[in-house]
Amino acid sequence: MSNVVIIGAGLAGSLLSIYLAKRGIAVDVYEARGDMRMEEVAAGRSINLALSDRGIAALREVGMDEYMLAEAVPMYGRMIHSVSGETKLLPYSGRKGEYINSVSRAGLNIALINEAEKYDGVKFHFHEACVDFDCDSGDFQLSSGRFVSGDTVIATDGAGSAVRQAMERQVAGFESRSVFLEHGYKELHIPPVTGDSKFAIEPNALHIWPRHQFMMIALPNFDGSFTCTLFLANSGAVGEYAFDQLSDEDSLNSFFNAEFPDAVPLMPTLVEHFFENPTGQLGTLSCWPWSFKHEVLLLGDSAHAMVPFYGQGMNCAFEDVRILDQLIGKALPPALAGGQSHWKWTFEQYAALRKPNTNAIQDMAEENFYEMRDSTADPVFPRKRQLETKLEQTFHDYFSKYSMVTFREDMPYAVAKEKGNAQDRLLMNICSQELDVERIDVEATILEVRNLR
Ligand SMILES: Cc1cc2nc3c(=O)[nH]c(=O)nc-3n(C[C@H](O)[C@H](O)[C@H](O)COP(=O)(O)OP(=O)(O)OC[C@H]3O[C@@H](n4cnc5c(N)ncnc54)[C@H](O)[C@@H]3O)c2cc1C
Repeated sequence: MSNVVIIGAGLAGSLLSIYLAKRGIAVDVYEARGDMRMEEVAAGRSINLALSDRGIAALREVGMDEYMLAEAVPMYGRMIHSVSGETKLLPYSGRKGEYINSVSRAGLNIALINEAEKYDGVKFHFHEACVDFDCDSGDFQLSSGRFVSGDTVIATDGAGSAVRQAMERQVAGFESRSVFLEHGYKELHIPPVTGDSKFAIEPNALHIWPRHQFMMIALPNFDGSFTCTLFLANSGAVGEYAFDQLSDEDSLNSFFNAEFPDAVPLMPTLVEHFFENPTGQLGTLSCWPWSFKHEVLLLGDSAHAMVPFYGQGMNCAFEDVRILDQLIGKALPPALAGGQSHWKWTFEQYAALRKPNTNAIQDMAEENFYEMRDSTADPVFPRKRQLETKLEQTFHDYFSKYSMVTFREDMPYAVAKEKGNAQDRLLMNICSQELDVERIDVEATILEVRNLR
């Protein structure tokens, strides 16, 4: 087999290099940033991430799942914080063992690079950004001025992919569309505390302060701190809450005191971090085709970046890698029979299989923004979650849409979306008519759910 060049040693690129090395394929990985094991390098777009079953399944195949979970903080549900400071835990699932895990992005990336380097065939080249790519020849230019030739190039260089931008310029008929939310995000911090528990708030939950037009979330870190993310409109009129209106300490403090009063005492560095940390943008990126001349393939965020509201961007990118690897394993016999290159066969199969599923999770991620922001503050939503929890506890064949996306790595995203949306409509309807979930007949409800299939 030929050598493969990977552009981008982020989460997807590092994992992919391990998978390819296990198949005996030599890999060169070119990464724009420095080596995060030696230098202080910004790890990327969020300090921690929710790792769930699709991502774990991909890590398991290269023996990295237990290692990563040992340093993860399990989150069993969403802890909703009202303005008056009351909290309510909405479990992610009624079944035991179905939860998500907060992991450090840098810790995960470093572990993957370390694992990849155990294979002789893998070589990482740091501080080597791809600045231009020739889609016809597969040659690319690095920031050092060097030109490199790649027989087979897999671009995992993230949402701002240089390779995708080259395809946009050079490939006739290449379609690419980015849609940005009006909301941006800012990371903030809750430090650990001294005492019995090092965590200032419940550690085993994803905390949400839903406020309709904006929200804040917090994920626990292994050291007892929390990383909070404020999602807020980028701009607004005078007097509205928006990033451009929070221009000084007074406006920031009065916003937080009015909207997140229970969080304020836990955030001693609020002002400092708010004004120091960048405001990130959130968008959905769709493009097609993902490969050209069957020698270059876009994978992970470079092909299908999504907004982070389902906690699936990395999990989906890891699933991309697992599925690509399965196809590489199958590639040689059919490719030889058809007289094609095995990469041509692999990339065609991969793109056809993955595109409907990445479209589905991109849609669901955007829809979940509105659910987290609005529905968690809507009284019908907690009743629906309560009913779903009961259904999951009572019937082994009931999975909520969230569970299908998050805990069913055997179910394609497109199937989870279709089934999940039909179930959601039914259950929201039932719960809007009955205020007391205990009075809802679960036997009748499950029959209605099964009839949807
Ligand atoms: C705020 C936020 C929260 C998120 N939370 C979650 C979550 O909870 N769960 C989840 O599953 N996903 C989450 N995501 C999504 C997740 O971060 C991405 O889907 C994931 O990082 C995609 O991996 P990737 O390897 O494709 O891209 P990246 O992780 O972005 O890696 C790209 C790599 O390519 C390098 N690179 C870029 N350009 C070049 C170049 N020209 N040449 C060489 N190298 C280059 C970069 O330095 C980087 O190392 C979140 C995203 C955001 C923004």
